[in-house]
Amino acid sequence: MVKDIERYVRGCIARLTPYSTARDEYQGELGVFLDANESPYENGYNRYPDPHQKTLKAQVAALKGVAAENIFIGNGSDEAIDVLMRVFCEPREDNVVAIAPSYGMYKVAAAINDVEMREVQLGEEFSLPVEELLSAVDEHTKMIFLCSPNNPTANSFPREKMMQLVEQFDGVVVVDEAYIDFADAESLKSEIAQYPNLVVLQTMSKAWAMAGLRVGLALAAERVVELMSEVKYPYNINVATMSIVEELLRQPIDDKVAEIRQQRALVEAALKQSTVVEKIYPSDANFLLVKVANADAMYDFLISKGIIVRNRNRVKGCEGCLRMTIGTPEENEALLKSISEYEESVVR
Ligand SMILES: *Cc1c(COP(=O)(O)O)cnc(C)c1O
Repeated sequence: MVKDIERYVRGCIARLTPYSTARDEYQGELGVFLDANESPYENGYNRYPDPHQKTLKAQVAALKGVAAENIFIGNGSDEAIDVLMRVFCEPREDNVVAIAPSYGMYKVAAAINDVEMREVQLGEEFSLPVEELLSAVDEHTKMIFLCSPNNPTANSFPREKMMQLVEQFDGVVVVDEAYIDFADAESLKSEIAQYPNLVVLQTMSKAWAMAGLRVGLALAAERVVELMSEVKYPYNINVATMSIVEELLRQPIDDKVAEIRQQRALVEAALKQSTVVEKIYPSDANFLLVKVANADAMYDFLISKGIIVRNRNRVKGCEGCLRMTIGTPEENEALLKSISEYEESVVR
């Protein structure tokens, strides 16, 4: 059965007359633009950017094998998360359900929008608790947030289990695939054609090495993309960013992704030998979640050596864990060397 997403949209958004620019009415290449009170003096940046991001979307469409109509481009995936909250959730009335532990922005975006967040702890070995997630849903639940591969647990969830939620929940299921390029698992983007309630988030910030440019994607049904586009700031991606992203997207990342995956295996193998390491969780991402004997002490030691990792010791479900990003071979060697020094310092 095809899901009717329309009844999940906030009334004010369904009724919205979006901002429109006069330039939407002009399709040609050359023209005299006296419609937007811009400066006429060319310096590369005197014109407003294309609010529809047509050129960039065509490039991303070819790259991802998804139609341009199914692509929303945000100022980072963080914008997409916030825009989804604003499209679907009535403040103080609706709620969203999310897995925990997971990416912190779902909770922050919910709080900023005054939307209740219902967190459901992952199961044994960070497994996806499908039944518990469905039990947390009530008539005011508009979205379920999943993240696969998940941050900070590093694992992917089985496709069938995520699709079970998409099938059984009529509201929006958001699957954040920020780390999908590092995974063995395949993206759910091929399912958006059949499931108008599925939104797949991807980003240029990780494997594509453009965290500083702030570009994230939501891949979804045309209607969902349309609603999100009406709610975003018209000029959310600036001219400089678009031109640099278009250039960088032409340079393949396969070699770098392969090196990160190889380094991940090497770092994991080395850490397994360490007496201060208790457990390394399986990773489908560009980081390792590592359970250690004394997370705070090891974190402080690494800081003293100029190495900054993420201390997840106070995150429920990740007690005793540090999250370590895979860097260059040299950086990883520096990490491993410092961990050996730490090991010696505690053994003595
Ligand atoms: C890093 C990360 C992102 C990226 O967010 P951007 O705003 O696109 O930089 C999104 N989701 C998760 C789970 C992440 O870890």
